[in-house]
Order: sequence, then C-alpha cells, then structure tokens
Amino acid sequence: MEIYKFGGASVKDAAGIQNLIDVIQTTGSTKKVIVVSAMGKTTNAMEVVVNTYFENPETAKKALQKTINIHHKIISNLFAKNHVVFKKVQDKFEHLINFLTYNKSPNYDFVYDQIVSYGELISTTIISAYLTLKGIENTWLDARKLIKTDSNYRDAQVDWEMTQHLIKDQISSDNLYITQGFIASDSNNDTTTLGREGSDYTGGIIAYCLNAQNLTIWKDVPGVLNADPRVFKNTVLLEKIPYEEAIELSFYGASVIHPKTLQPLQRKEIPLFVKPFLDPKAAGTAVSNTLELTPLVPCYIVKKEQVLISLSSLDFSFMMEEHISDVFKLLAMHKMKVDLIQNSAISFSVCVDNKFKRLTSLVDQLKGKFKVSVTENVSLYTIRHATIKTLDQFEKEKNILLKQVAGHSAQLVVKL
Ligand code: ASP
Ligand code: MG
Repeated sequence: MEIYKFGGASVKDAAGIQNLIDVIQTTGSTKKVIVVSAMGKTTNAMEVVVNTYFENPETAKKALQKTINIHHKIISNLFAKNHVVFKKVQDKFEHLINFLTYNKSPNYDFVYDQIVSYGELISTTIISAYLTLKGIENTWLDARKLIKTDSNYRDAQVDWEMTQHLIKDQISSDNLYITQGFIASDSNNDTTTLGREGSDYTGGIIAYCLNAQNLTIWKDVPGVLNADPRVFKNTVLLEKIPYEEAIELSFYGASVIHPKTLQPLQRKEIPLFVKPFLDPKAAGTAVSNTLELTPLVPCYIVKKEQVLISLSSLDFSFMMEEHISDVFKLLAMHKMKVDLIQNSAISFSVCVDNKFKRLTSLVDQLKGKFKVSVTENVSLYTIRHATIKTLDQFEKEKNILLKQVAGHSAQLVVKL
C-alpha cells in the first residue's frame, strides 16, 4: 500500500480537485489510501464559527454560511446540477447546524473538534464522489472509525493498539481508499482532532499501521526547501534528508512537515516523499534512512513573534536549580512554549512563544522573584549546518540579542 496526503492548499478549488485526479491517474488508482485535509482555508473559517458560537449560537450559523457557499460553488463547478453529492454535502452541513442548535457542552475544546472536523468530512465526500464520477472506484472511510485517541480535544493522543487493529480490519484489499486527515474519535465515539496541520500525522499513522511502502505528501512547493521561500531568497531543494534531520527541522519550526509525522515512519523505516502536486513525476524530497543531508547546505528556519525573557536574581545570588525550577513552573502554568534556553551564573534567558497570550500575567509573577527584562516581537532563527561564513554574514546583517551554537544547530534571537 502507498499513502498519499493532500493538504488544504492542493484541494482549495475545482482545479485542485481535478489535479488530484490527474495525480491518481498518473500514479495508479489501486493499493492506495488518500488522506485529505479540509479545502483551502476551511479550518480557519470553522475556527471563526467556533468562536462566534460561544458568543451567540445563532450568529455562528451566519458565520458558517460563507463556508457553505464556497463548497457549493466548488461542487457546482465539478458536477451536474442533479448529482447526489449536493444532497450529501447539504446533509453534512445540516448535521453541523443541528449540533450548533442542540449542543449543551460548555467545553470549548470539545465543541471545537465537533465543529472543525466537518471541513475534512465534507472535502473527502466531494473528492470521493468526483473520483467515482471520473470512473475511479474508491471507498470512503470515516477516519473516526480508523483512529482512536484519548479525549484530549484539539491535541488528542493516539491509542496505537486500537488504531492498528481498526485500520488493519478496514483496509485490507488492493483498492483505493479515501479518508480524512486531522480527525479521529475517542472511546465515547466523540470526534477528536490531532492538532492544527495534523493531516500529515494521519498519513504517518496509517502508513505505520499498514506497514505501507511509503507516504507521499503532495504540496504546492517542489519539495522540502532549505528555507521558507516567502522569507529567504535563493532557496534550494533538499533531495535527501535523514529522518533525524527532518525531525530536527520540523521540531524547530519548518512548516512543511508536521513534527509528529516522522517518528512512526522512522520506526518502520517507511520513506516519506514530499512532492509537487503540479508535477507528479518530479522526484521531490525523500526523507529516509539516508546518511547525510543532500545537498549539504545550511537550512534556515525562522519563528516570528517570539518573546525573549531574561532573568537575574534580586539578591545577588546565582541563578541556581531552585530559581530555574521556579521559572519552569511558572512557564508551564502559563502554557508558554519554550524554544530556547540560555543560562549563565547570574542570568537565565528563555525565548518563548506567547501563543496563549499570557505574557503579562507571567511577567507579573516573575517580577515577584526576579529582576526581569522582556523583549517582545523578536524572531528566533535556527540555522542547521551553518558554516562560519554563513553565520558571520548573518550576524553582520542582523541585530542579534542572543546566540547559541550546539551540534549542527545555531540559534539566534534577532530583534528587527
Ligand atoms: N485542516 C486542518 C488544519 O488546517 C488539518 C490540516 O490541514 O492538516 O489545521
Ligand atoms: Mg488545512
């Protein structure tokens, strides 16, 4: 079996869906599981519906109308007026509207998963129907019946044993299957999700459970590049990446591969390909057991809108274990994701992601114990395989607040 994953950008409109068909026709329409995300920016639009719902459930229905219209337009472009897909999609949206009307749960994360999951349920319904229309036989599978998780909504953890069992039970023949990325279900059969951009991970889970030959992520870029082309000029395509290297790159924030995707693949030595969906024959990037990054070039990853917090003691004491453990307790309490740590005898610095907007409260509490300096709006650059020359050049061009070099990674906190 081969596993293919198509992201939202690759199925954002009728042309994208037509292109998916072309990829399947070029590469063969059997022995495959196709994992698909919600179309285009649907998940973001669904997040708006969730937020509106908590203000006023009736207004949420209005917020949903835009998404309904976008999908309606796409199916009108692909199918004849009386095709059953119109009714199928309408039924799904009606289920969702019923949920908005009758839900009693005040749990934000639970409600979020019940709502946003419709993006994937609907995209796969449309794509499965279109494959059939084009004469490509396929089986639509509900990913919630394949992947079981705990009830940690919005960031659910996979129950590997149950999942393995369910996947092997339902995907056994040489057919073509189509299913949703990102969504799963818990032991009550309530919908859960695997975290934003989690469809890659779904591909990894299915590949692992089926001992698949490979996983291919089809993208709107030629493969994995050594830097984000929206930020850096003169990017190069990475042809071969060892698993460990790819894990490092995605962990530091390279957004082409979801960080959880790689470890299950590595465990079974299943190669991951990242290929351009507009050119299915291109080699793209292969992540595998290869020894060295090819070509061996510096790789740049940037995380913007970070906060640099530097602490020293109020009483001339050194920054020792007790101090540092206090700091970490506060960071964890405020759900701050720490991306870099640096300490010396008298100071301790962390670069954090203020994702949950809890900085003010954190700083107030830190001020009770330490001398605190905060620099907001810094960028954290990670450069893998930097040469001395590239680092020198980089440092000349930027205003560097902090630098750390360890192994093959240099990390620099930069103020614009
Ligand atoms: N549709 C989900 C998201 O946008 C999952 C994914 O695209 O991988 O986060
Ligand atoms: Mg998406």
